[in-house]
Amino acid sequence: MTRAKLTLEEQEHTSRGKFKELSRKIVDTSSAFYRRGWLYATSGNLSAVAEETPFRLAITASGVDKGSLTASHVIGIDEYGAILDGQFRPSSETLIHLMIVKKLGAKSVMHTHSIWGTLLSEKFSGNGGIEISGYEMLKGLRGVGSHQNSEWIPILENSQDMKQICTELAGVFSRNPGIHGFLLRGHGLYTWGDSIEDAKRHVEALEFLLEVYGRLKLVAT
Ligand SMILES: [Zn+2]
Repeated sequence: MTRAKLTLEEQEHTSRGKFKELSRKIVDTSSAFYRRGWLYATSGNLSAVAEETPFRLAITASGVDKGSLTASHVIGIDEYGAILDGQFRPSSETLIHLMIVKKLGAKSVMHTHSIWGTLLSEKFSGNGGIEISGYEMLKGLRGVGSHQNSEWIPILENSQDMKQICTELAGVFSRNPGIHGFLLRGHGLYTWGDSIEDAKRHVEALEFLLEVYGRLKLVAT
């Protein structure tokens, strides 16, 4: 009995330690992204799976300044979005994070509100997405080994109805297996990965590619 109890305590200790470690990484990443101008005015959300069973997602709280985030602003939620750890409330966009984790098996989801993502998603929404190829930076995306890869980034209509976005997203994932991210029109980018580091690299690669594509298509003459 004592041994079993200790084991449970040890498990709880390990679990708390992992949540703390993920929170620290989320804070560091958030701060770096804020400095790049991708998370201004409390926008965006970053999350990472802290535990599979029972499920626990560490995610940035709603309405907090991403430039001065602390570990207390990273909350723990279950698979339905109910709060398990922390004092703050989760963002309404938490549903999209949960959907991506469940549907794609992602371990981390990141959502930015960059100027280039906003401009391009508005300009090319009629095409249903944008296709980017020919750039070395594409190799920053998991599984891409050549600049000749063609990366399709779908654009979905924005909405305040997260359930509606999730329903449309399910169709987008079915029709486009292998995508690394998508844009919400006039809103921002979502991407994901097998770890915080993986998702962070995807944000950096995709934001780089969006800016290059945007400068070429919208600015260059
Ligand atoms: Zn957003």
